[in-house]
Amino acid sequence: MANLYKYIMIIKSAEIFQLKIPFKLGFSHSSADRFFSDSMVLKLEGKASDGKVYTGWGEAVLREYVSGAIDQHASLLESAGNAVTGLLAPFRDADHQTHIILELLRTMIPEAKLLPLLCAVETAMLDILCRFENKDIYELLEREPERTQLIYGGTLPMLPAPAAEKLLKAYKMMGITNLRIKIGRNSDYNRSTLTLVRQIMGDEYDLKTDTNAGWTFGQAEENLLMLREFGIHIVEEPFGREARGRDSLISRLSRSEAADGMIFMADESALTPDDIRAAAAEKTFGMINIRLAKNGGLLKALDMAETAAEAGLDYMCGCHVGETGILSAAGRAAASLMKAPVYTDGSYDSHLLSGNITTEDLSFGQGGRAQIIRGRGTGFEIDENKLKGFTDERIRCF
Ligand SMILES: [Mg+2]
Repeated sequence: MANLYKYIMIIKSAEIFQLKIPFKLGFSHSSADRFFSDSMVLKLEGKASDGKVYTGWGEAVLREYVSGAIDQHASLLESAGNAVTGLLAPFRDADHQTHIILELLRTMIPEAKLLPLLCAVETAMLDILCRFENKDIYELLEREPERTQLIYGGTLPMLPAPAAEKLLKAYKMMGITNLRIKIGRNSDYNRSTLTLVRQIMGDEYDLKTDTNAGWTFGQAEENLLMLREFGIHIVEEPFGREARGRDSLISRLSRSEAADGMIFMADESALTPDDIRAAAAEKTFGMINIRLAKNGGLLKALDMAETAAEAGLDYMCGCHVGETGILSAAGRAAASLMKAPVYTDGSYDSHLLSGNITTEDLSFGQGGRAQIIRGRGTGFEIDENKLKGFTDERIRCF
């Protein structure tokens, strides 16, 4: 009987740490200027029926332009605290066995604007369960990885030419095999940047672009012609999330001549599996950028990947700029469990951040290569001293 009781757990406390970790390099793109990681870290404490206390950690990246504001009337941290308290209700009200908790996590369908916080909740719950069960994430989910090594690509943010050149040369030195180039409204910038990229990386190098919802219809037509000249065929999110239907900009663009041979990748437009099915039905997006921080964590990301495959769409496992080692580890597990991600981004860690909150550096190595992490829970440990050092503000949820 004692053994049976061990497998019961209830969440007793939750606290959110608002981080501020400076980047090694100033970043900018068409919707925001950001020079530091502002991830929120969630710390959960759960009590097992034998009286032992277990800790789990999760991470949220809140981007209003991706999934909308949470609450207009409270500070971002306060509204995050309230939302997290709500999301954790099923795990606070009653103690549950591990398989019940996993089932509750799998079947949670919160409002789309809460998905970034669900990512923190889900990651922390999986982390706490791994520690509680003394299993790694693969054992916990009873799933074997599809691959043991991942090859990460890079992102070139919108930068002045000298900074872009420096970063491109660093990617080249590291042997990174593919890049996502952030472009915007200014055609002159787009052209000069892509010229520079081709000069440094070569004509055959694997490139795609992300517009971050930056274009008008006319700009899209004009830019697609230019991208063709540069041998680029994957274009992320030309317009941003919009109402579905034949009159949407993306639907019109997909039917236009300018879109011939182009694949549009949904980012802001793909928050839920429903969005993917709609994109497939309307023949708008051919590819989905799945990101744990946007889509609600590892389980939701795997669900998105399966939905995309069923709908006949390609997908990649992406990341948010500024993720800490928590999401690097969770993202790596997700990418290793997906059947066929075309690209994988993430694990930038020490390449981008001036410090981190994990004990180990999870950055990818030469060629963008990184091994999956076995036998160590979700694959990261938090250094609480480092966490305190990078915490700007904190709030106890309960
Ligand atoms: Mg994007």
